Amino acid sequence: MATCLEWGVERHQECSQTADQGYNSCTQTRDDGYRDCCTWWPCSWACKAWVWVSNIVCVAWTWVSNVVCVAWTWITTAVCLVWDVITTIVNAILVTIESIIGWILSAIAFVIELILSIPYLGTILKFIWNFITTVIVVAASGFDFILGAIGIRPEKLLRVCTVILRDERGGVVASNEVTRSLLQMACDIYKRDCNVRVIPSKPFKYSSGFAGAEQVNDDWIIIDGSNSDADILDVPCISANSSLGTPASTFQFKSALLCFFGAWRRVTGYGSPVTCFIIRSLPDALGCQVTFTDYATVQGTLTLPHPSPRTLAHEVGHACMLGHQCVDNDNANMMATQAECDPDSSTPPDRINPRIDNMQTLIIRASKHVTYF
Ligand SMILES: [Zn+2]
Repeated sequence: MATCLEWGVERHQECSQTADQGYNSCTQTRDDGYRDCCTWWPCSWACKAWVWVSNIVCVAWTWVSNVVCVAWTWITTAVCLVWDVITTIVNAILVTIESIIGWILSAIAFVIELILSIPYLGTILKFIWNFITTVIVVAASGFDFILGAIGIRPEKLLRVCTVILRDERGGVVASNEVTRSLLQMACDIYKRDCNVRVIPSKPFKYSSGFAGAEQVNDDWIIIDGSNSDADILDVPCISANSSLGTPASTFQFKSALLCFFGAWRRVTGYGSPVTCFIIRSLPDALGCQVTFTDYATVQGTLTLPHPSPRTLAHEVGHACMLGHQCVDNDNANMMATQAECDPDSSTPPDRINPRIDNMQTLIIRASKHVTYF
């Protein structure tokens, strides 16, 4: 069922709950009022009349609020559904056009990406360029942000390109099975909590705002054709070299080469795919995403279970402008980390069913990686 509709039903229930609570509190206030009334005439008479009238006002107010609440829910749900219908149709047209002429745009963009893959010089330029495109896309999504805030959240798309690296001797650093499970968790929670459909960055990838989350298969996964060295297989998260030096430029080059189809989006910044590199290890984390880059690194394993199945979703969250979420030691949040949020607790972050909260949803939806088309 369309997520717009599910939310409509949920909000409808919230309206009735609020109304029920309202009626109950009216009754409670009325009963308390009668009980506390003075006993001598005419005070008792005036008091009872007052309580009687205020109760009618209270009930009428609750009734009107409920009608407004329900009407608003109908309107927002209808707008959301109509929007989904329109974007589904327009998307079908645009996907077809992009699948044909996107290659030409990407060929031009590829040349630019090669320049941006030069260590330090290129990576710094790319950094600045990404900052600019981020500001432009975020500013342009202001209206959509407001709609989202009042509950109108039609489906948006988030593109990923997933690459498994090979080690020095040519062995893959992760199995397809593990990689699929990392991707599937991202698909499920982004769809469920943000109404964002995670899709692979590929031609002829049609999607409908009325279907459930994508089911990940091996077509989503690209296995790097060449072997890699330790400098990108075991890259630390935060260091000048890993963010701007040869590791960063190698990731950007591989991104340009292996995720060629998304090149024009990466360069323009509109609906830019996040390249998810599955690497061998990180000395200081399970995954990493450096701000204003278009790629994330995630530690892979050959067999399930992965030590933290939400890692890919978490790193994509960073790409979509989310920081770590430590409110009230909320371990269930997708952006919770034990080290930063809750070092003393024995409860590790929820690795199985992480949640994205309301504000995070609005931020993700405003990111340049998340667009209607
Ligand atoms: Zn993180």
